[in-house]
Amino acid sequence: MQNAKLLILIAVLLPPRALDVLGTVVEERKILTPYGEFGPLALRVAPNQPAVWVGPYTGLPTRTDPRATLFAAGMLNLQQVLTWDEGVALNPILRRGQSTVATDYIDWTRHQPATFFTDKHMKMIDRQTAELNLPQPPFCPQMIAALHQVLPKLPEVVYLGVDGPRRETQAEARMFRLFGADVLGSNLTPEVALANELGICYAGLVTIGERSVDQPIGEPRGELRAGLEMTLQALPEFIRLVDTLPECSCIN
Ligand SMILES: [Zn+2]
Repeated sequence: MQNAKLLILIAVLLPPRALDVLGTVVEERKILTPYGEFGPLALRVAPNQPAVWVGPYTGLPTRTDPRATLFAAGMLNLQQVLTWDEGVALNPILRRGQSTVATDYIDWTRHQPATFFTDKHMKMIDRQTAELNLPQPPFCPQMIAALHQVLPKLPEVVYLGVDGPRRETQAEARMFRLFGADVLGSNLTPEVALANELGICYAGLVTIGERSVDQPIGEPRGELRAGLEMTLQALPEFIRLVDTLPECSCIN
């Protein structure tokens, strides 16, 4: 049995077999949690690289309960979760195909269970202590530093999470921008808050798929495909880097 520490959730569309760059699949698993089934996840192993769990992820309202995602990570004894999301740029300086890293978030979801603390399955943790010790900042500083190391000039963004799949209106896009959000997406919230509650390091890598509807939309010229490819090529080094990290302040 390989000892993996990291789970990578893939919420971007990649060509078939693209993930082979992260290693060969040695095990596949679905995990039954009190919040429903999570998976399938694949354990991937490559030479000179720690094993890593990798799974597809979707932010549609019909998706996995986000609590199942994080609970499953806990059941696998994982210490780090990276979600690679595709986002809509609210900030006009961001370009299609550009990858960014989330450093803070606004949770604008309305239909997602956003805490474990009201839940009977979480008796085993001391809720009061856990609530007092939620990490600040919410996204793992060590994982963010590792992403900067493998993807130089990665812009840091404020992420605004929505339920989807409806696109934002022009008025919403202007409002979200006034809130201070740079990127809009459906896969990092409330997952980041749930990871904080469980003391799991969590990071969000967000590749810009398009601009918000209040901005001029240019013809796609393959920027997204090129950006996804470049980001994917950086992940093996990221997997090696985060495996060597010392115990983190996220772990309460
Ligand atoms: Zn951390």
